[in-house]
Amino acid sequence: MPYNTLTMNGFRVFDRRSLLLLLSLVLATGFFATTLLGYFVSKRAIHDAIVGQDLPLTASNIYSEIQKDLVRPVLISSTMAHDTFLRDWVLKGESNVGEMAKYLSEMKARYGAFSSFFVSDKSAVYYTGDGVLKHISPTEQRDAWYYRVRDMKQDYEINVDPDLANADALTIFINYRVFDFSGNYIGATGIGLTVDAVRSLIADHQRRFQRTIYFVDLQGRVVLFGNQTGIAPDLRAAQGLGPLVDGILRDKAGTYQYLANGDNHVLNVNYLPELKWYLFVEQNEENSLAGIRRTLYANLAISLLVTVLVLVLTHLVLSRYQHRIEEMASTDKLTGLLNRHAFSILTDRLLAEYRRSPQPIAILLADIDHFKDINDRHGHRIGDRVLSGVAGLLLGGLRQSDIAVRWGGEEFLIVLSGCDRAEAQHIAENLRQKIEATPIEVNGQQIAVTVSVGVSQYDGIEPADQTVSRADTALYSAKEKGRNRVEAAEMPGLA
Ligand code: GH3
Ligand code: MG
Ligand code: MG
Repeated sequence: MPYNTLTMNGFRVFDRRSLLLLLSLVLATGFFATTLLGYFVSKRAIHDAIVGQDLPLTASNIYSEIQKDLVRPVLISSTMAHDTFLRDWVLKGESNVGEMAKYLSEMKARYGAFSSFFVSDKSAVYYTGDGVLKHISPTEQRDAWYYRVRDMKQDYEINVDPDLANADALTIFINYRVFDFSGNYIGATGIGLTVDAVRSLIADHQRRFQRTIYFVDLQGRVVLFGNQTGIAPDLRAAQGLGPLVDGILRDKAGTYQYLANGDNHVLNVNYLPELKWYLFVEQNEENSLAGIRRTLYANLAISLLVTVLVLVLTHLVLSRYQHRIEEMASTDKLTGLLNRHAFSILTDRLLAEYRRSPQPIAILLADIDHFKDINDRHGHRIGDRVLSGVAGLLLGGLRQSDIAVRWGGEEFLIVLSGCDRAEAQHIAENLRQKIEATPIEVNGQQIAVTVSVGVSQYDGIEPADQTVSRADTALYSAKEKGRNRVEAAEMPGLA
């Protein structure tokens, strides 16, 4: 079949690719904007809740519970340091060791402590509930704590050390300074708690509140933490947190944020004056965001899917309509042949091809003879059927590469590429004979028609309409000479 629709560049009713691109842009922007907006709003809300409520609340909760558990030993140690019996016993010359041992074991048992002690400054004896443990010495590394306590300005200190009296178990000691009734320093007393007990207390809180909890001393060292790993012993060296440490220690309390390993951490700090320790309660915000992040990914996937689906559907629908519209714009409805508009586009292409590799091109202009009579005799509608019948006969006699155009009312233009004037004349003659020999059947009536044909060959330089015009002149001459015949125009150069 020769051309009867056009699907070539330059003849697009609309540009499908840019339309699809625009559509995907609008869809993607819309979907992703709403999804991301939702995500960031939720993220903001979660962040605000952590910073403004959740963390400070749990921190103060943990603070009061841990304070209760750690402050009690300080009060007990203070009671011991101010005890009249203890001071009198020292002033009377530390003569009855059994009395002191009984007192110390009594205190230990009553308050459920891990150990209790008194160290006399005068005799350098270390007493426990079992009696004399040892003599302390300024040259002994293990006794350094005592000389530090003796010389310090505060009333007491909290110290985490191995306990000599308890197989070196790691112990929190409250070391309280003791004075006689005239205010002279006479020794140090206090109780010890196992670190394990405090650790499990912290670990229990961590489990309950999903937070990281640890204690930091005045120097910024982590002195006590639960069973989690990942806390740097020296906070100043910690990623993200390090540079904040000095400010935090100065502020004593507050909420801070820092980035470590790409995660935002929210930190709440409280100072426990009784312990001279800071309580750090920390939360990795990313853990709280995991839920909404999952939702974000699901939403993005759904958005993507819907976008792709809409695009595929649009593509399919557009393809169909574009094909139809292009067909409608390029073909004549009655005959199914190309219209003049399509012809002008094809001509440009043909001429471009000709310039690349010149091949003869011929034109036939066919006009139905006395068509007015057919209309008059049979009516306009039957005239139409005859027109499309003739178009069908023409198409049937052409090659794939030929172009058939409905040129005017009952005029047809045919472009024969690769044909010179003589060949075209031959083809025209065949078409003429075929139409003459084939009456068109309409509603059982046989209507005989003939055509006159003008032939011309493109001379290689003239404008295309010049070639058409010469075919028209030849057609006029065929009509003049009696119709139902083929006339060929001379090549201009040869005339
Ligand atoms: P000849 O070409 O042999 O000189 O005679 P003719 O009767 O064909 O001449 P003319 O060109 O004067 O008449 C063409 C007629 O074709 C006039 C017009 O009414 C008719 N016509 C044009 N287009 C159509 C159409 O689409 N349908 C029908 N039924 N008639 C058409
Ligand atoms: Mg005619
Ligand atoms: Mg005519």
